[in-house]
Amino acid sequence: MNIDSIQTGIVIDHITAGRAMRLYELLGLGSLDCSVAIIQNAVSKKMGRKDIIKIDADIPVNFDVIGYVDPGATVNVIREGRLVEKKQIGMPEKLVNVLFCKNPRCITSCEQEIEHVFRLADRATKEYRCIWCEARAADL
Ligand SMILES: [Zn+2]
Repeated sequence: MNIDSIQTGIVIDHITAGRAMRLYELLGLGSLDCSVAIIQNAVSKKMGRKDIIKIDADIPVNFDVIGYVDPGATVNVIREGRLVEKKQIGMPEKLVNVLFCKNPRCITSCEQEIEHVFRLADRATKEYRCIWCEARAADL
């Protein structure tokens, strides 16, 4: 299967091998009506092995989630069989309602209407912390 097999949709490429399922979960792709293909351990000249996710519909995807799970991933947007956009994502500065703070004393645990916001605290170690209580995000 290659990009040509999708007429209109989104291909998330260059995912580090083994991370596609995590991305699938965090993006909520299981609840979509359209077909979603996950290719694991595809051979890549650049990366050795990589994962690919193909979504057979032009849905809004949360780029922050993709950048968080895998800053090296690229997103290809395909319309009518043509590649119209190719994006390198990178690490987002902020994640809103993607990760949930597990600290029982955090304000987000008692006030349900408060957004769960994590900020990038350390780019080198890819560490995210809750903006309310500074708790670290659980590892991937
Ligand atoms: Zn917190």
